[in-house]
Amino acid sequence: MRVVLASAVMFLLPGFMASCGKAPLAVEAGVSLDLARHRAETISGIDYELSLTIPESLDKQVEGRIVITFQLSDPSQPLQLDFRESADKIRSVTANGEESGYQFISEHLVVPATELAKGHNEIRIGFTAGSSSLNRNPEYLYSLFVPDRARTAFPLFDQPDLKATFKIDLTVPAGWTAMANAPVLDVRETEAGVEYRFARSDLISSYVFGFVAGRFETVHRNVDGRQMTMLHRETDEEKVARNVDEIFKLHAAALDWLEEYTGIDYPYDKFGFALIPDFQYGGMEHVGAILYRASHLFLEDAPSDTRLLARASLIAHEAAHMWFGNLVTMEWFDDVWTKEVFANFMAAKIVNPQFAEIDHDLSFLVRHYPSAYSVDRTAGANAIRQELPNLNEAGQMYGAIIYHTAPIMMRKLEKLIGEDAFREGMREYLAAFSFGNATWPALIEILDAKSEQDLRAWSETWVHTPGRKAVESQWNTRVEGEAGPFRYGLVPADIAGLRSQDEVIRAAALINLYEGLLAESGPGAQEYLRELTGFVRREENELLLDLALNQLRTIYWTLLGPGIREEFAPMLEEALWETMLRREAPSKRKILFEAYADIALTARGLAQTRDVWSGTTPVDDLPLAENDLIRIAQSLAVRLPDAAQEIVEFQVARTGNPDNLRKLEFVAPSLSADSAVRDEFFVSLADEANRTTERWVLEALANLHHPVRTGVSERYILPSLELLQEIQVTGDIFFPKQWLDATLSNYHSTSAVATVRAFLEGQPDYNAQLRMKILQAADPLFRANSIVTAQEAM
Ligand SMILES: [Zn+2]
Repeated sequence: MRVVLASAVMFLLPGFMASCGKAPLAVEAGVSLDLARHRAETISGIDYELSLTIPESLDKQVEGRIVITFQLSDPSQPLQLDFRESADKIRSVTANGEESGYQFISEHLVVPATELAKGHNEIRIGFTAGSSSLNRNPEYLYSLFVPDRARTAFPLFDQPDLKATFKIDLTVPAGWTAMANAPVLDVRETEAGVEYRFARSDLISSYVFGFVAGRFETVHRNVDGRQMTMLHRETDEEKVARNVDEIFKLHAAALDWLEEYTGIDYPYDKFGFALIPDFQYGGMEHVGAILYRASHLFLEDAPSDTRLLARASLIAHEAAHMWFGNLVTMEWFDDVWTKEVFANFMAAKIVNPQFAEIDHDLSFLVRHYPSAYSVDRTAGANAIRQELPNLNEAGQMYGAIIYHTAPIMMRKLEKLIGEDAFREGMREYLAAFSFGNATWPALIEILDAKSEQDLRAWSETWVHTPGRKAVESQWNTRVEGEAGPFRYGLVPADIAGLRSQDEVIRAAALINLYEGLLAESGPGAQEYLRELTGFVRREENELLLDLALNQLRTIYWTLLGPGIREEFAPMLEEALWETMLRREAPSKRKILFEAYADIALTARGLAQTRDVWSGTTPVDDLPLAENDLIRIAQSLAVRLPDAAQEIVEFQVARTGNPDNLRKLEFVAPSLSADSAVRDEFFVSLADEANRTTERWVLEALANLHHPVRTGVSERYILPSLELLQEIQVTGDIFFPKQWLDATLSNYHSTSAVATVRAFLEGQPDYNAQLRMKILQAADPLFRANSIVTAQEAM
């Protein structure tokens, strides 16, 4: 084993060494690649027996005990268990039956080599659980340990290639229910509450170990012999009734499809899922216990095609992970993109037959190309596969590149080698590495054997080269480039494409014209906005309508100077309102009204929005649910500061769902007309305790940085950048980029550009990954600045 000397925070343990003469392994914060490799070589057969007692009161800590058993091939080194908490949270440690003389160093509990044996070992630890990944709420909690955060809750070997069985007991307050990876063995009342004992899990990685407990409704269903359980907290019974059958049906259909495609039956003992209010991701694929953001599965009345498709895709994505990611797992998080790309790529295949009326080329194009370009067009674009020396930076591997550029790459790969050979390769890969781990090169080797093409060279371009330009030029020279709407890159486009009879051509025209506009090589903002308005008036396809309206909103709010925006407002408001009334389908009316409510700026437009929102002047066939009304209330309060308090109070009074009420209470100060109240709220976000529900923070930031407030809110940019490193350490995977997006994306001023540039230039040693995230998130600001400045000079 190599000794790492690079890290500043690192300790060697001479006194802890046995006398075999091998260099001791460094103890450093996080989980270094060296530590992970050493443990993967020497430790096997791991089992965890974990007991946690969860008190009702958030002021009381979660207490725990864990028994870790494993086989050790080389006991000459001290044993490092990962625990990212303070030393005082460890109450007792025994190693192989004797009290341990352990040390606690740099996020590790270190057991001396002298206490270890070759072969079987058992470590018992009593501890107070860290709560940063337990997402504790007054009536429920859920763990979220991806990518390396199990170690914030309890001591373990937290790396994806040390798969283990987990046996968990949860003692929860009376009236709570619980779900984990394995089936419930029994439930009994104890002095401390109700104890749920779960069966021992299958062999899984620590990042997909998980549990959820709280006051939930439980729904059991058997769909064609498949037993499934759902937990939820929705109080609107009609909404539940409207969605529940479809949710189970979509899960069953996805699992059926995957069994057929992979040739492997669903690999785990049980299947369940829980719907979490304002969950920080769309979903998380805990083995047998998937977590979802509730609003993505319980859709409101009259959902658009985009939302229906997104729900089916999300369910298919998480189901696909049971094979791609959970059954076969990446060795290290540098290959995390492989599980995400397969999940998204398979999801697209799975939903195709479920939506026979939708053109799936169109769906693929609008789902992946705009999001892929949103990062690939920037100076912060990353390669699909990146270096990862320590798991404590694994969260930064995630982003649009792995979710959107990678599926585009995978689609090209499948075309290159053919659907049948691709599927055969997938089957071979899954069979070879079941319940184990694999790398991308191992997969390429399998596929390469089935193809005439040089897939290694191909992979080098697509997987290891960052940026759209690089990919485009290399793609087009190395392999025969794909012509037509699926060509990837900055593709010249003709405005006439917006009037094509072919939906896919219209989509490509929208996407490429918009990219041209941002690159200042296509239409100007005002010209394109007029074209878009005409497009929205004509378009019947909801996927295209959604895409066009998103572009329209972004251009209107960020690529027009305030004076020009005011000139455009009456025309746009009228176009959207009129088009809404001409459409009969409630789903289309809703898409158009939401856009109208977002852009309304004239006194008339705002009054009309408010009247519809308050119910004074309802519109036929325009169903607005509680979540819709809350969203509209927030954007109205920002634009009608004199009425802000009244609007918030009105919305609070008619909100029935207790989780929604807690959210409204949290975001209310961000809606205040008083900038001192907003300042105080912004300052409070520096405290980690005020960032626990990330979705709420993001909604509040959107209010603080609303385009009508950019003049007064620009002063929040610098402190927000200064907080980024802490946000990365304490927040979940997507939060750093979302924090930056919410902070930067509405600005266009030269001073805002200067703030960001000066921040980066002033810190040449700043974390490279975070620097890239800043460059990605600041790209809309840089482009808006250039476009609006040119506009104003005219
Ligand atoms: Zn995923």
